[in-house]
Amino acid sequence: MSPSHPVIAIAGLGIESSTFSPARTEAPAFHPRRGADVLTGYPFLAEGTPLRAAADWRGVLVGKALPGGTVTAAAYRALSDELVERLAELGPVDGLWYDIHGAMTVEGLDDAEAELLARIREVTGPDTLVSTSMDLHGNVSRGLVHLSDLITCYRTAPHEDTLETKERAARNLLGRLVDGAPRPVKVWIPVPVLLAGEQTSTRIEPARSVYAAVDEVAARPGVLDAAVWVGYAWADEPRNRAAVVVTGQDRAAVTAGAEQLALGFWKARHDFAFVAPTGTLDDCLDDALAATARPYFISDTGDNPTAGGAGDVTWGLRQVLARPEFRDAFGPQVVYASLPGPAAVEAAVRAGVGATVTVTAGAEVDDRHCGPLTLTGVVHAVRHGDRDAGTEVVLRVGGVHVILTRLRKPYHHEHDFTDLDLDPRTVDIVIVKIGYLEPELYAMAADWKMALTPGGVDQDLARLGHHRVRRPLFPFDPGMPDPDLRARIIPASNEPATVSGAEE
Ligand SMILES: [Zn+2]
Repeated sequence: MSPSHPVIAIAGLGIESSTFSPARTEAPAFHPRRGADVLTGYPFLAEGTPLRAAADWRGVLVGKALPGGTVTAAAYRALSDELVERLAELGPVDGLWYDIHGAMTVEGLDDAEAELLARIREVTGPDTLVSTSMDLHGNVSRGLVHLSDLITCYRTAPHEDTLETKERAARNLLGRLVDGAPRPVKVWIPVPVLLAGEQTSTRIEPARSVYAAVDEVAARPGVLDAAVWVGYAWADEPRNRAAVVVTGQDRAAVTAGAEQLALGFWKARHDFAFVAPTGTLDDCLDDALAATARPYFISDTGDNPTAGGAGDVTWGLRQVLARPEFRDAFGPQVVYASLPGPAAVEAAVRAGVGATVTVTAGAEVDDRHCGPLTLTGVVHAVRHGDRDAGTEVVLRVGGVHVILTRLRKPYHHEHDFTDLDLDPRTVDIVIVKIGYLEPELYAMAADWKMALTPGGVDQDLARLGHHRVRRPLFPFDPGMPDPDLRARIIPASNEPATVSGAEE
């Protein structure tokens, strides 16, 4: 039976959490939205839009956290229990849109998103259609594909199609419900490759072509959706690797499309390179000082908070402040974003703009590479009320404008700097804890280099020490034989899961 005005629940927990960071993530970091408030997170479901009018959308609980450390068992239990209870209170639903990231690691639990979906299924029963939307840096186990009827992910990195992907997931779900068509055929192919996101930007080859093929496969007759996941490199679970899923009504088209995408990814494995030239931080600083291009951007990559770094590693800033070139306030002008230090921020706020202060910040969470850093400088700016940082302070130390925050914050937009009375366009060097530059910064950078610095999201994967990922796995086992990239047909969610090979 196909409902003309189906009831569709929206639920999910999203975070990218590094198991190589000593940081832990607690429940408030997810900023959970509940009930009708869930819908306010999606512009395409705003009041008055055709999609909103086409179904009875019911927000359950959706939580989205900045990337961080492993989620504590207690935080996961609290959030997932509440989600499941709220869903049960809703009563029967025709469909459920499962809005997740896919790289959530939880203390003592593997494949958290599949575990949560299994609990959701216990409430909804087998007949509810589930459409799962993910980040392409999420991980896709056989179990997650089995429990989902539709599953897709972004097709760009940096992610410029976030809303488009979510809307597609919601729209495809609605379409299936209204049509009453049979459940789509699902094909899953794990690809034994694990790469850093910074090696797989879809702005450049080979990822550009690998992802261009996704659109091409998705447009074929009989195919509903196609998706390629790069996976998440900074967690150590058996599921961490690349994967392909294609869904649709035509088994032959779905199978052929998935095998083409998986083979395309595998064949390109040696060609994935960092999106920008890389070097040690000192190499990058040397190049930046010698260059004439301004502003010159440097990514301090190992502690990137948007990949899961603690954000308070002091190693990079310590190197910068040790350079004699930056000691003179009238020398090269540098912006460094950023370092959390609540006590330092409080002291600077108390002293006020223009005052000279000596403060200590950083290494409260991740002190494995360097201890807390003591800085003496002039308070240049103070800003309160930031969603992530709480309070931000700029301290000018010689020629270096150091952004200190109460809590960690990613710096992705021009206004993140201009709000602090900093003009990133007119300084010489901008150093950001980030991997690939987000679009506004990328457009602004006259030149850019990525510093391979230590931290919880070290780009040099071999330095991290994965033990639990499935082997063989490229690039850890460079001489590995070609894997089995034939399509695995995954049974519909209302049919029993087939017993999988031990390798899956
Ligand atoms: Zn991502």
